[in-house]
Amino acid sequence: MIYADNAATTKASPLVKQVVLDTMDQFWGNPSSLHSSGQAAAEALYQARVDVAACIHAKPEEIYFTSGGSESDNQAITSAAYVGKLRGKHHIITTPIEHHAVLHTVEKLAKEGFEVTYLPIDASGIVKVEDVAAAIRPETALVTVMYANNEIGAIQPIAEIGALCRENKVTFHTDAVQAVGHIPVNVDADHIDMLSLSGHKFHGPKGVGALYVRKGIPLLSFIEGGAQERGRRAGTENLPAILGMAAGLKDTCQHMTDHMAYVSSLRDALIEGLSAIPHAALNGDRSRRLPGNVNFCFEGIEGESLLLLLDDKGVAASSGSACTSGSLDPSHVLLAIGRPHEVAHGSLRLTLDHENTMDDVNHILASVREVVDYLREISPVWRELQKGERNYVIH
Ligand SMILES: *Cc1c(COP(=O)(O)O)cnc(C)c1O
Repeated sequence: MIYADNAATTKASPLVKQVVLDTMDQFWGNPSSLHSSGQAAAEALYQARVDVAACIHAKPEEIYFTSGGSESDNQAITSAAYVGKLRGKHHIITTPIEHHAVLHTVEKLAKEGFEVTYLPIDASGIVKVEDVAAAIRPETALVTVMYANNEIGAIQPIAEIGALCRENKVTFHTDAVQAVGHIPVNVDADHIDMLSLSGHKFHGPKGVGALYVRKGIPLLSFIEGGAQERGRRAGTENLPAILGMAAGLKDTCQHMTDHMAYVSSLRDALIEGLSAIPHAALNGDRSRRLPGNVNFCFEGIEGESLLLLLDDKGVAASSGSACTSGSLDPSHVLLAIGRPHEVAHGSLRLTLDHENTMDDVNHILASVREVVDYLREISPVWRELQKGERNYVIH
């Protein structure tokens, strides 16, 4: 099986697995306990905080461990909104292409009375800094824009948006779940106030993540209990997962430059090969793009049949995001970049990683060509297109 769905999740690396096991053996004490077993666990936990912080150029005291990207997004956004409200600010700026952990949190806040501005997105999937500038008002409590999109891989101008927010004294959060461990992220250079990351997107364990919160930015707690995570997130720390995530992140950050060059070369070969299929279109910007992300629409084809047939050929891919495939809704991201409904249904996302090879790419290319040909052969829509009874959307 060729795994090309690394944006949905990644396989834990051997190093991560070893650290998880070793942690259960060596650091099973409760980090809040005063005896030596507890203190050894507390020291290991602190080292994990140092390692995670180092990868994004933060300080260890600015890292809060959570259960993953979704929790980090929920806490950051809800906290920033409520803190803003206390200061008479009730306006939130975001984009229509965020992950549902962001979109649904913002929708919940809108029901509570917050006003939300969704920034315009162009066909390449990238936010314009001028649009952010135009949307900021004196009552803006928060700007939340994802670092890189999970479906189309578009990398946003985060440093520019961050600088703008800093200038206007607006809190800036970014969902960097797809970016951290894959492309360089620097919370200082990028002027980020709050950032979400998740362990299982960079070969760490699932169910663990972190929230970075710049010193001086208040953070409200939504899980009450003990004083863990400096009183901002109660519950005995998930040490095996946290240490596993920290080890995975440290490892991935050390190899980032090499991995970026290698994975981008695989991506480019795949994009080039798929572009040769007639009436196929790349979704997302060609160059401002995550190293491993490939996302195509094929006219006259339904995404789900494409995935099932690719699975038969030993290729694990995805259509839209993992959360929406399985439902018949077209991707909200593809609709936002202007793909019509019928085309947004026929998308294919292939997300590569340093464990993939050029042989994988060649096998994927041959499989996709074959499957697309087959599905078009049996597609009534394709027949109508060919007979000129219907117009092509993708030329
Ligand atoms: C995966 C993902 C999340 C959710 O992270 P979990 O750890 O699975 O909760 C949030 N945002 C983006 C962009 C993601 O890709």
